[in-house]
Order: sequence, then structure tokens, then C-alpha cells
Amino acid sequence: MERQGGCACGAVRYVAQGGPLRVGLCHCLTCRKRHGAPCNAFAAYRRDKVRVRGATSVWREQHGLYHGCATCGAPLFWTALDESDDEIEIHLGGLDDTGQFTPQYEIWVKRREPWLPPLNVPQYVENRPAGMAS
Ligand SMILES: [Zn+2]
Ligand SMILES: [Zn+2]
Repeated sequence: MERQGGCACGAVRYVAQGGPLRVGLCHCLTCRKRHGAPCNAFAAYRRDKVRVRGATSVWREQHGLYHGCATCGAPLFWTALDESDDEIEIHLGGLDDTGQFTPQYEIWVKRREPWLPPLNVPQYVENRPAGMAS
């Protein structure tokens, strides 16, 4: 199965192959600020499963590398600072179609907007416990 997405202006396009490793929803302050949004929904893939076309910019921050369109600035992906980490998280808002993924868990729910009801999935006050990937 392929899922396609891209930025707001169309300069960056991507195709994700196969199924994701996991799908999550994060309410943390970093995600809120980074996206200018009340939360961040993402699907984690192995990097070699996501093909990207077009120029991206990368912002290096304390919590990882944020990849966005070099032309319009739309946020697209997150990767870890540790290059041995083989994952890429796609922000679900970049997908062309709705209904591609449903989050399997929510993290940092203590930051949840009070008007946003919880999904019927495991809820974590902060990060998931050690040993589980974020
Ligand atoms: Zn763009
Ligand atoms: Zn977050």
C-alpha cells in the first residue's frame, strides 16, 4: 500500500510504502509550538519506506530534526538527532487523503486542549514508558 502526501505548495511530495511502525498523537508543548497546532498526529516509518521528492529544509532542535518544505515552510517530517535511529515520522496533516491512519495511542495528554476529547486508545500523561518507542 502506498500513501502520498506533500507540503502546502506542492514543491515537496512523498510516498510512504507499506504499513507504518505505529501511529500516535502527541499533545506536548514542543509539538504544539513546532506545528502551531493543538497537537501533532504522526505515523512512524522506516526511513527507507518513505521516498521524498523536492527540496526540504531541516531545523535542528533539542528534540530532533524537523523537516519542512524549503519553499512554503510547511512542516513535513521528524527524525531523531541520533542518526542510528532508522525512523521517520510523517505528520498526518501532510497526507493527501483523510482516513489514512487512526492514532493507536496518545502521549502528553496533560497538555490536551480541554475541548479536545480523548480517543478510545491508551493514554499517557507524558511519554510512553521506557522500552516503548515514542
Ligand atoms: Zn511547499
Ligand atoms: Zn510532542
